[in-house]
Amino acid sequence: MRAYNFAAGPATLPVEVLEQAREELLDWRDLGASVMEISHRCKPFLAMAREAETDLRELLSVPADYRVLFMHGGGAAQFSVVPLNLVAPGGSVDYVVTGHWSKRAIEEARRLVAHVNVAADETASKYTTAPPQEALRLTPGAAYLHYCANETIGGVEFPYVPAAGAVPLVADMSSTILSRPIDVTKFGLIYAGAQKNIGPSGLVVVIVREDLLGRAREDIPAVWSYRNVADEGSMFNTPPTFSWYLAGLVFKWLEARGGLAAQGERNRVKAERLYAAIDASGFYRNPVARECRSWMNVPFTLADPALEGAFAAEARAAGLINLEGHRSVGGMRASIYNAMPLEGVEALVAFMQDFQRRKG
Ligand code: PMP
Repeated sequence: MRAYNFAAGPATLPVEVLEQAREELLDWRDLGASVMEISHRCKPFLAMAREAETDLRELLSVPADYRVLFMHGGGAAQFSVVPLNLVAPGGSVDYVVTGHWSKRAIEEARRLVAHVNVAADETASKYTTAPPQEALRLTPGAAYLHYCANETIGGVEFPYVPAAGAVPLVADMSSTILSRPIDVTKFGLIYAGAQKNIGPSGLVVVIVREDLLGRAREDIPAVWSYRNVADEGSMFNTPPTFSWYLAGLVFKWLEARGGLAAQGERNRVKAERLYAAIDASGFYRNPVARECRSWMNVPFTLADPALEGAFAAEARAAGLINLEGHRSVGGMRASIYNAMPLEGVEALVAFMQDFQRRKG
């Protein structure tokens, strides 16, 4: 029996994708071996890998002058890989800080870059807001402006794409990529750890404008050079093959369901349903400014925090799992990524209402 899994990542995957992977696990494409047990340089794998890239490009309408890289190290490796690749010695960079993950990113930049400017920091709101465009203090000539499009822990999503003029915009989209259409042309670089809307952890997808390749500092480790990875078709060293394969299945699953416009509409409905139930309850509470509420991660508290343990335990017994908030903030959090069906959200809302009736 599969539960409705509200984990923030690694997160629930489409059941159809898991079923297909199970079906193909022992003998992939009549090769007599699983996709994990063959060379990444054999023809069938190469064909699958290219097809996955093509499908991702189609889903996101990635323009021809952008490269798509399938890399190692998850989202956090990019916190250092981005500055290593994009900043010349003595250069400066701008960071927007809206919560846990953008803080982690700027901390890493401070270790590697001479001048790190804080374009905005939402500490004052306890990270429940995104700064408006007018509030961004941008540095002319910065190597890039970095922001986290969706803070997975705080549940804060930028309601707009920051404009940085000629400065390349770099976005951590780990927990929002593929949740709705985006205009890739507004970005210099997008990175996203796979374990929310793409596939298994470890893999990170990087979409980078071609003119940004080749800006790496000389001492960059070879495996982290975007130029090297791009030149070798993301096979500079052995890629995370199973994750790449599974990501490919997820891309096909999204295509079959009408692409990102249709998926975005489903996600909007799911999020609205859950926030409406929270707001109407007088018992549950989401602290995030309305216009910045995440479609993917919905943190909430209970009127009586002492009930949190019972809430999580009873939810688990009802087949609704992994609703505990991040260990750094507590409370509850429902992550409702692409693979979470509306029925899962409806089941959660029904449980929340029943719990409130009994304990509220
Ligand atoms: N950025 C964001 C927005 C995340 O949510 C996460 C992980 N949850 C990371 C970066 C780090 O990803 P990883 O653990 O794959 O390095």
